[in-house]
Amino acid sequence: MPFRFLRRIRRFLSDVVKQAVIQHHRKSGYVLFSDTTLRDGEQMPGATLEPDEKVRIALALEEAGVHSLDAGFPASSEADRIAIQKMVGVVKKPVLTALCRTVRGDIDAARAALDGLPGHKRGVSLFCGTSPLHRQFKLNKSESEILDIIADSVTYAREQGFEIISFAPEDASRTEMPFLCQAYQIAIEAGVTTIGFPDTVGFLTPDKARRMIRQIQDDVPNVDRVLIAVHFHNDLGLAVANTLACIEEGAHIVQCTVNGIGERAGNASMEEVAMALTLHEDQYKRKAKIDTTKFAPLCRLVAELTGIPLSPMKPIGGANIFATEAGIHQDGLLKNPDTYLPYRPELVGESGVKLVLGRHSGRTAVSHRLAEIGVQCDDNQVLGVLDGIKRLPKGTIINDDVLKGLATEVSS
Ligand code: MN
Repeated sequence: MPFRFLRRIRRFLSDVVKQAVIQHHRKSGYVLFSDTTLRDGEQMPGATLEPDEKVRIALALEEAGVHSLDAGFPASSEADRIAIQKMVGVVKKPVLTALCRTVRGDIDAARAALDGLPGHKRGVSLFCGTSPLHRQFKLNKSESEILDIIADSVTYAREQGFEIISFAPEDASRTEMPFLCQAYQIAIEAGVTTIGFPDTVGFLTPDKARRMIRQIQDDVPNVDRVLIAVHFHNDLGLAVANTLACIEEGAHIVQCTVNGIGERAGNASMEEVAMALTLHEDQYKRKAKIDTTKFAPLCRLVAELTGIPLSPMKPIGGANIFATEAGIHQDGLLKNPDTYLPYRPELVGESGVKLVLGRHSGRTAVSHRLAEIGVQCDDNQVLGVLDGIKRLPKGTIINDDVLKGLATEVSS
């Protein structure tokens, strides 16, 4: 009897601490980043990562300051289990979470994979399909059966010592609102710390996403005792816009991937969400809890290790984001980089603006580069070099040697 009493006291104290942490996050004025590059990102066809590569990316994400890492799905693959075990003890600051279906075996596998981490640094992310399509075709279960499964799995996760437990109704965005709210209510009653809102098939628009997040906050009892995490896919090119709309409506955690990699059209891109938040703090009233100056090397690392190259136009990480060949832009950028940029390259860890010389370049950029490489040219000679550039065959890369050659031609 006294032993059971002590256990109840301990459970009570841990709940008090947990609730204090949740309320701290809710009021902190920060949006937390939960990364799923290593799980949803790696699920992308062709993006397989070896366990050691996952650890390298996890360490880079830790340096950027992500709050939690969706480290893998241990019940689904041995490689995921190995990768998570390698992260334990090496990745120190973020919470490591393991993905689990709402079945006991998956929670057991998560517990084994995360063994060695203190309670406040390990978590489980439970998911169960709730939409009519998932209920009928995937699970063949009734609404009440699904509610029982949710309650049972959350209770089991608590019994297994998990303090950080999230529950996400898979395909939430296509689930009937009353049932969705019931699923959250059951999960909260059973003791989750976070409720997830995944737009599993990338179906929503910003207005609809915002309305659903609002309604969840209005209709689910005790929703203010948990954190709300959102997870968007980019099938309509709206993952970042949807994520931002939900932040404005009160979501606390955004689940994203570096470079937006992920299933089908990918996930919301972490660097894009973070930069939009950073540039528009007045609108969102909260800050991105992440170090944006780590983005450029992080984006390159993920592209290199996954083998999924970045489009030159990819926001933040793409090769053309701070490069321009247009004469008017080059002239403006040389006078003040802000004339033709939304933010300075240094803010995302890039060294500076790249002026690419080509047919669209103007005098200012050509004379600037010639001076940089120590070639003296007067105005007429600069015009001659520019003329030479325009006559070069299509596709010629105008490097310093080509430039020097043209300068020699016009000087002789
Ligand atoms: Mn997903």
